[in-house]
Amino acid sequence: MRRSRWVLLGLFVGFTSYGAIHAHPQPLFANELTVGTIVVHSRDPLPANATELLREVESRLQRSPLYRADVKHHVFICDTPALYAFFNPHHPDTGGETYFWLGNQVFLRPVDFAGDRLISPLGTPVAAPRTLVYFLTHELTHAMTMDAVGLWNYLSIDRWKHDGYADFVALPDFDVEDAREKLRSGDASMDYAQSGLYRRWQLDVHDALSSGVTVEQLLTP
Ligand SMILES: [Zn+2]
Repeated sequence: MRRSRWVLLGLFVGFTSYGAIHAHPQPLFANELTVGTIVVHSRDPLPANATELLREVESRLQRSPLYRADVKHHVFICDTPALYAFFNPHHPDTGGETYFWLGNQVFLRPVDFAGDRLISPLGTPVAAPRTLVYFLTHELTHAMTMDAVGLWNYLSIDRWKHDGYADFVALPDFDVEDAREKLRSGDASMDYAQSGLYRRWQLDVHDALSSGVTVEQLLTP
């Protein structure tokens, strides 16, 4: 075989293997814990409080009409930044990603289950209210939305809607009046470009749903 054909064959095998492990990462994660519809996979054994945290995630997800008790979602805890980057090469600095192209699973960066925290790219725990429960619920809401509307429609939903709705489900204690006041005063936390936070979008989703728009209507492109 000519050298160029070997190169092409090598690329084909490489991409196919990467796709296969991305679509079915279970062999890389020895430990598994199922609570309700959530199946968490991790390389290290999960601590005793993991069940309690996942129950809280499950109860937040159940606030959404998109929740289906018969559909399980898989979450893979990537315990090193390198492992997270392997599964999310395009967004290695995010907190979590719901990957739709090869399955519909969630990948999270390193976490501290015992402290209910996600570990930021700087190596420090992300502060409350963006707890580990928050990140899990946010990403799993994306997965539920994808199940409900399908991939093609999902990709057409405005970002403020799907990230605003994911935070709406993930942050039930959101202080609406405080957010309104901060928006009026031009607080940076209400501007995604400045803060990286979805607070403005969550407020807009809250207002849309309060005005009578249904979740299904909101998430229809
Ligand atoms: Zn999101």
